[in-house]
Amino acid sequence: MTTYLFTCQACGQEIEINGPMREAILSSGCPVCTESVDAAAFEQE
Ligand SMILES: [Zn+2]
Repeated sequence: MTTYLFTCQACGQEIEINGPMREAILSSGCPVCTESVDAAAFEQE
């Protein structure tokens, strides 16, 4: 499965995630601070 590194621009949190989690974060925001995020916050590993 594809793994991504999510880096929140607002709180600086870095989280390793998979594709479905990426979709969830894109729609509901950062799981730590709830700031909305865009596709640029994800790096494919
Ligand atoms: Zn955050």
